[in-house]
Amino acid sequence: MTKATYQKPTIIRHQGGLSQKFGRPTRRASMERIDGVPVEELMEKYGSPLFVFSERTIRERYRQAHRAFSIRYPKVQFAWSYKTNYIDAICRIYHQEGSWAEVVSDMEYDMARRLGVPGNQILFNGPLKTEEALRRAFKEGAHVHIDHYDELYMAEQVAKEFDEPVPVAIRVNMDTGIYPRWDRFGFNLDAGEAFNAVMRMHSGGKLKIAGLHSHIGTFILDPQAYGRAASKLAELAKRIKRETGEVISYIDLGGGLPSRSTLHEQYAPGTDSTPPIDDYAAAICDALLGAGFPTDELPTLFIESGRALIDDAGTMITRVVGNKRLADGRRAVIVDAGVNTLFTSFWYRHDILPVHDKGGMPEDTVIYGPLCMNIDVVRPSVSLPPLSAGDALVIRPVGAYNVTQWMQFIRLRPPVVLIGEQGEVDVIRRAECVDDIKGPEQLPERFVEKRHVRVVG
Ligand SMILES: *Cc1c(COP(=O)(O)O)cnc(C)c1O
Repeated sequence: MTKATYQKPTIIRHQGGLSQKFGRPTRRASMERIDGVPVEELMEKYGSPLFVFSERTIRERYRQAHRAFSIRYPKVQFAWSYKTNYIDAICRIYHQEGSWAEVVSDMEYDMARRLGVPGNQILFNGPLKTEEALRRAFKEGAHVHIDHYDELYMAEQVAKEFDEPVPVAIRVNMDTGIYPRWDRFGFNLDAGEAFNAVMRMHSGGKLKIAGLHSHIGTFILDPQAYGRAASKLAELAKRIKRETGEVISYIDLGGGLPSRSTLHEQYAPGTDSTPPIDDYAAAICDALLGAGFPTDELPTLFIESGRALIDDAGTMITRVVGNKRLADGRRAVIVDAGVNTLFTSFWYRHDILPVHDKGGMPEDTVIYGPLCMNIDVVRPSVSLPPLSAGDALVIRPVGAYNVTQWMQFIRLRPPVVLIGEQGEVDVIRRAECVDDIKGPEQLPERFVEKRHVRVVG
């Protein structure tokens, strides 16, 4: 008997498309309306591409999340993460719901103040705060979270201008079982640096430690990581009380809770694999309540959640520009919204649905944007029915980060509309025009062209 030759096992790519051994791929749904408003109507009126936000979803998600924490802990304050979406109308909704502002730069600080947020309802994070920004924040009673020793020193110099010690918090990083560890922001706890920073501050007498802040990462799928962070911060707070007598009035667990988007590397869709917000609330609140604070010294819990609150509320409407066959036989579709407006395509497998279900066999498709750039891929692989130029598609969820990280590379940024709770539609950011881009430029006198007027006669 001859021995069969060994054959190396191979993994064959599962093609979504024609029938295979699992049967036909499930038909994708279509999406004709957003909050009851026909997508075609929105597109006719405001053009394509178009960002659409749902006020109802924003308020619903906020209330669910706030409730998850406040049923478990008596002192909870949310602060809206401006960098996740700082369009005025969006921020205003969160402020109406009771949220403070969480800002990470002096630009964002200005945005919050312009919108009428009082200084004492601003949490000021970020690794770069100018002396001017610190002075203003101290004057206005903002909650400044010190990031590093040089900033601590600068804050101390500025605090000398005030009669009383200025209350500040420090940002703390630590091992919570999440890797790679976010240790570039704040003072490390495990190595004792966070405590030393507090002692340094205490001995200087110009600053007064009032809070502890951490933001352990983003899109954290393990609620227990927050439980560990909360326990460690609580321990630090108790040690500070023991050794300096200072009572920590708030503990801030930052943001980073995942939305229901699907990461590229995730197998199951985000709607199935993202733990409910209640699990995060339980992990954090249990840790704080179990830490043994005297009742009258229970710190307020701050939460700076961004993407988990807004992502689902945003949808992009886009139009098919054309179809292509790539050299390897794959089907490609070009749409008018690329990574210039959908920055989160780099991280997420966004849902892409036709607005009208016209039938036909779905086929594995690459979705390209309109840029002259190889990286402009909205989805490397998605099963879609046949589409023709002009057909409308919706891409979702896209509410987080896109309207702050978008760029005007070769195209103007599209308008953003908000659908109100009664179905009314308002433009909350108009489409850009060339003057918006060219406005700040200046052409030096020597480059200004003299137009010669030819005299005829
Ligand atoms: C970005 C950021 C947030 C919000 O993060 P999400 O992942 O959107 O929840 C909160 N706090 C700080 C300090 C941040 O930098």
